[in-house]
Amino acid sequence: MKIVTLVKHVPDAAADRTFDADYITDRAGVEGLLSELDEYAVEEALKVADAGAGVEVVALTMGPGGADAAVRKALQMGADSGVHVVDEALHGSDAPATAQVLAAAIAKIGDVDLVLTGMASTDGGMGVIPAMLAEHLGLAHVGYVGELTVSGGTVTCRRDGDAASETIEAALPAVVAVTDQINEPRYPSFKGIMAAKKKPVRAWTLADLGVDAARVGLDAAFSVVRAVTRRPERSQGQIVTDSGDGGTKLAEFLAARKFI
Ligand SMILES: Cc1cc2nc3c(=O)[nH]c(=O)nc-3n(C[C@H](O)[C@H](O)[C@H](O)COP(=O)(O)OP(=O)(O)OC[C@H]3O[C@@H](n4cnc5c(N)ncnc54)[C@H](O)[C@@H]3O)c2cc1C
Repeated sequence: MKIVTLVKHVPDAAADRTFDADYITDRAGVEGLLSELDEYAVEEALKVADAGAGVEVVALTMGPGGADAAVRKALQMGADSGVHVVDEALHGSDAPATAQVLAAAIAKIGDVDLVLTGMASTDGGMGVIPAMLAEHLGLAHVGYVGELTVSGGTVTCRRDGDAASETIEAALPAVVAVTDQINEPRYPSFKGIMAAKKKPVRAWTLADLGVDAARVGLDAAFSVVRAVTRRPERSQGQIVTDSGDGGTKLAEFLAARKFI
């Protein structure tokens, strides 16, 4: 069985987010890391691999130079190999282009039984890539999955809603987006970190994937960012010293703002 897990390299949320002249997130000049929500997808792939025999886990990313750091983190956690789609022409790609390129990479990896993704990235946060990917690949898509099991040619998923939990079955191959409730991602062990250094990461260009560069990147984007305005710094807020009347002051504060 072969599982592909998507890993996006995103700017560190703690770092100051900057934009280039085209209002595209500056990914080159800032510290980046594996999108936290993707760690749950990597972990779930490794759990399936731990539970079965002959399961191969491939970590896949699309991004500029440096984005392979996201793949490296997945290899340190235990994935077997990685793929980094890197090409100048990808700069400024929107979600439709990203899905098209990732679908072409999955087709090139070949014989993929299950694609596991996070429920959203921690920078764009659109939560659309898994469904778009499934559309390109002609596969079933199950989103917001809080528990999954793979047996035979079927993946069985549980999705918890506010009122009810659904159990959804899909024939493999399929695309499944998991939530941050599905597991507790493992920390890379020292052994895992050392082993990752020897694991292969294939770097593919658009030409390697047979994707026309004119269909991706900023010029081909369906949506364009026209302006970026900084959110006002959060004000410190009112500090209340509780000298026995903290509760009253809080109630007055809430009442004055018609919260109560
Ligand atoms: C702040 C911001 C706003 C944006 N707004 C838009 C917009 O309105 N319209 C638009 O079309 N594009 C937009 N983009 C671009 C869009 O983010 C990228 O195309 C992105 O790669 C896909 O969207 P996402 O990050 O929201 O992914 P999501 O749909 O949230 O991600 C779902 C899953 O797909 C995986 N995934 C996403 N991108 C990659 C990748 N490059 N490599 C590997 N796995 C990946 C995620 O890791 C996650 O597991 C925006 C980007 C940013 C940073």
